Amino acid sequence: MVTPKKHLGQHFLTDLNIAKKIASTLKGDSYKKILEIGPGMGVMTQFLLERKDKDVYVNEIDKESIEYLKKNFPALKNKIIEGDFLKLDLEKEFPGKEIAVTGNFPYNISTQIVFKVLENKDKIPEFSGMFQKEVSERIAAKHGNKTYGILSVLAQNYYDVEYLFSVSEKVFNPPPKVKSGVIRLTRKEKQPDIEYDFFKKVVKTAFNQRRKTLRNSLKSYNLSDNLKQDSIFAKRPEQLSPEDFLDLAKKIKHDIR
Ligand code: SAH
Repeated sequence: MVTPKKHLGQHFLTDLNIAKKIASTLKGDSYKKILEIGPGMGVMTQFLLERKDKDVYVNEIDKESIEYLKKNFPALKNKIIEGDFLKLDLEKEFPGKEIAVTGNFPYNISTQIVFKVLENKDKIPEFSGMFQKEVSERIAAKHGNKTYGILSVLAQNYYDVEYLFSVSEKVFNPPPKVKSGVIRLTRKEKQPDIEYDFFKKVVKTAFNQRRKTLRNSLKSYNLSDNLKQDSIFAKRPEQLSPEDFLDLAKKIKHDIR
């Protein structure tokens, strides 16, 4: 058994049915490889390994968990990537290949995991797994909603986002303070026609001052008076749909050329 370590966000699933249910959320057939982040003692991994159509890799930072996996899962031989997911070079690990990413994720780095997936969207056709409920809801939130923000806009532009089900804190050891939520992101066939970093910057700048109109929050872009006439600039960021944001970013890009 692995001793749960708080600084690594370790909350081990104790309910096999839930582990199985999360492991079955990846449904795509365009890819062959699956990467599970933070397998811990492999409670989800055992079900992922049952899939004969997929090649399962795991990425784990905790030495004790890695030892446990090596001992108990011979099928993972040469498929354990040791280290911090946030520092992984996915192209180097899986050159020229697409990979689906899944897991019961370490909650202390939830949003960073989602941003890393977005940065690697060209390699990741599908992404599913469990976060604290609030983060899963934020990723799936519709505009006009309180939790709608940067993650919602970016995730929903590149992926179709589904909130699948909620999970009680009682099925973990130790139990986390909050409920959890499982989501699935399926990459859209038609990807936004814009440079990701530029788009992210526009969305971030707008949401940095959530209460202000876009006319105010986007001042630093020195937009033309002509563009600022557009009625969209009288709105606040949470009033814009993900598609509205994409349109806006394209107009800004064009304006500041
Ligand atoms: N999937 C297991 C463990 C979930 S707890 C289960 O459901 O029981 C989160 C796991 O993520 C732990 O195993 C922890 O060691 C691992 N982890 C934490 N930070 C990580 C990081 N930066 N990169 C990779 N794995 C990490």
